Amino acid sequence: MSSPSSLAELRNVVAGVVDPIYERRLGELRLLKDVLLDGDRVTVAIELPSPGYPKQDELRETIRAAIQTARPDVSSVEVTFTTVVRGKDAGGRVGLNVKNIISVGSGKGGVGKSTVAACLTYGLKHFGAKVGLLDADVYGPSIPHMLGASGPPGVIERKTPEGQVVQRMVPLERDGIQLMSMGFLVKEEQAVIWRGPMLHKALQQFLQQTEWDNLDYLIIDLPPGTGDVSLTLSQLLGLTGAVVVCTPQKVARLDAVKAIAMFRQLNIPILGVVENMTGEVFGSGGAKEMAEQHKVPFLGAIPIEMQIRVKGDEGRIADLYSDDSPAREPLLAVCRNIATEIGKEALKGGGGPTLQIL
Ligand code: ADP
Repeated sequence: MSSPSSLAELRNVVAGVVDPIYERRLGELRLLKDVLLDGDRVTVAIELPSPGYPKQDELRETIRAAIQTARPDVSSVEVTFTTVVRGKDAGGRVGLNVKNIISVGSGKGGVGKSTVAACLTYGLKHFGAKVGLLDADVYGPSIPHMLGASGPPGVIERKTPEGQVVQRMVPLERDGIQLMSMGFLVKEEQAVIWRGPMLHKALQQFLQQTEWDNLDYLIIDLPPGTGDVSLTLSQLLGLTGAVVVCTPQKVARLDAVKAIAMFRQLNIPILGVVENMTGEVFGSGGAKEMAEQHKVPFLGAIPIEMQIRVKGDEGRIADLYSDDSPAREPLLAVCRNIATEIGKEALKGGGGPTLQIL
């Protein structure tokens, strides 16, 4: 039998272990869920803040070594991992029901931003998370097509705390993913002329009236460029972070640098850069170099691959994650890296939203 004091001592030892990814102590990060001592055997339960954590083995070994140094009498250490997605402002995003909001942007159109946003959504879903996708690319909404979905969204009535009846929009559902598009509500020709305050107003209303169902992640496909939508979103929502998509060529990289500068200016954390369409046609490695130069994480490369275009066209992005898909591994690697960067941001805390839900 173990005494309570020896269990407390063990807890302290494990709580003091520094996580290799988040670079702070497990106790401080609240990742240590439980320590059990049964005779001379110890079981440690770790609760990770996001899926795809890349250093489980290293963390397990570090915990084992720390315990065995402090307590040479312990004969075995088992470390178990579970995942509960954390949000940046746990509980603070009143009414929106979303733990993390991630925007996907690019310096210019045609680099595969919407494709990456859709693939990221399916990848996080594949990891077991609850995910929504918002198409805010008002100038060329392609997400509904890529998911094989079309509007209009459902409408329900809700009572506000003041007793007023309001109408709320319910996202469409496709492959277990909640989906909304500005394009469901306005014609493309109409949205194209939106600028500044008009766009701000439309987007604000759209966000306020949409009812997401408890999401771990909401992915937002931004319009390309350095624009008004990003500004509005960052003011209203308190984004967890932004992903920048670029192709490997030099000219494309220059545009991506502008997007990085914009997110920095808006104080939106940059989760990193994804290189898309890597291969013989456009080359490879350019985005990685650029990411290093600008001190943002490189999130991986997605090859130029016919299946990616075909499945996007067919509204079957989910197929890219099937076992025989050539795109599966590179896509999963990118999603794992993004999930990890989101975890880092979520553990930093802070950054509340300002949007009032109607
Ligand atoms: P953006 O949102 O940046 O304008 P899209 O996601 O609409 O770009 O992609 C533009 C076109 O390129 C689409 O036809 C898409 O299917 C295709 N595409 C995107 N990424 C890839 C890839 N890695 N391999 C092959 N085709 C791709």
